[in-house]
Amino acid sequence: MKEHLLDAITNMTASQDIDSLECSLVLTLFELIDCQRISLYKLLESDDFQQLEQVASLQKDDEASSGTLWQQNSQLINSDSPLQQALMNRDVIKYPQADGQTILMPILCGDNIYGVMKIEQIKSLESVKHLITSFIKIYQNYLTILNESERDKLTGLFNRRTFDKKLNRLLLQQSQQRLEIANAPDERRELQAQSSAWLVMVDIDHFKRVNDEFGHICGDEVLLILSQLMRKRFRSGDLLFRFGGEEFVIILEPTNAHFAQKVLQDFLQIISQHRFPLINHMTISMGYTTITEEDYPETVLDLADKALYYAKENGRNRLDRFEDLVAAGLLIPPASGDAVELF
Ligand code: GH3
Ligand code: MG
Ligand code: MG
Repeated sequence: MKEHLLDAITNMTASQDIDSLECSLVLTLFELIDCQRISLYKLLESDDFQQLEQVASLQKDDEASSGTLWQQNSQLINSDSPLQQALMNRDVIKYPQADGQTILMPILCGDNIYGVMKIEQIKSLESVKHLITSFIKIYQNYLTILNESERDKLTGLFNRRTFDKKLNRLLLQQSQQRLEIANAPDERRELQAQSSAWLVMVDIDHFKRVNDEFGHICGDEVLLILSQLMRKRFRSGDLLFRFGGEEFVIILEPTNAHFAQKVLQDFLQIISQHRFPLINHMTISMGYTTITEEDYPETVLDLADKALYYAKENGRNRLDRFEDLVAAGLLIPPASGDAVELF
């Protein structure tokens, strides 16, 4: 048993990013505990306990067979009251359910509440309680380290290092959904066909002047406020990155071209109307492009960057879509079969 446990810990801590760590924790516990289902839920907003994201769930197929069912696609769920109580009070909650006991274990990342682990219908809870608690502690320690390594220190947004992985994961989910939807009713297929993910590059206009006139600390505060306004405006499924300096990248979860444009135009306006401390008024420019499953991260970044460059050259405080610029003959489309520029 001891060797088995050590192997389980080694496997779990071999994960290099939070997504695989989450799956690994669920799988590890499922192998060690006799239960019906294990699910891991993450908070979308740190102060909203109503809606959660189910990030991984593993359950026995049915009582008779020894098969298992994985649910790895993230899903939004409305949290029930025991889940909310576990999150709000950071309480471990136990209650009897059908054949065994169910336990809810809050998960912390540093000092912040991060999510909750639900283990359903455990056969003999007392004998595995210590094991569950210990594994969650190891997971929390590791989660805190990984979380720091994935995020930008000043703004708390994702950093550039995580970009390729996050984008590839999103593209994989997109192609899985496309397969799932192939047999869906016409309207749903139609809706899906019209929507895609979008990559947006955001750059502050004349930011050097902010530093020159008001100092670096004021500049840092502006960056922080901008990131807070981004979190407020975009949806929880959208991914926000600080790429470095005063440059940000947003991946908009699949939506149609009209909505993408509207949401970005709104954001442009929110920033231009916001009153920042000391500097008062500031603007940003954005370039964006659609993302398809066939794209390489470097290619989409390059296209969005070209659109951003155009926005900068043509007045700033504006938003340009690469495909529109090409259609209008203002930018040259990339030749098909162009080699990807790797650096
Ligand atoms: P443009 O409108 O063409 O984008 O002009 P800009 O001045 O924003 O662009 P430029 O690339 O010339 O200058 C970017 C400035 O961003 C230079 C640097 O002083 C500042 N900067 C980069 N990183 C940070 C940071 O972490 N904190 C602060 N305060 N300033 C930063
Ligand atoms: Mg700039
Ligand atoms: Mg810049």
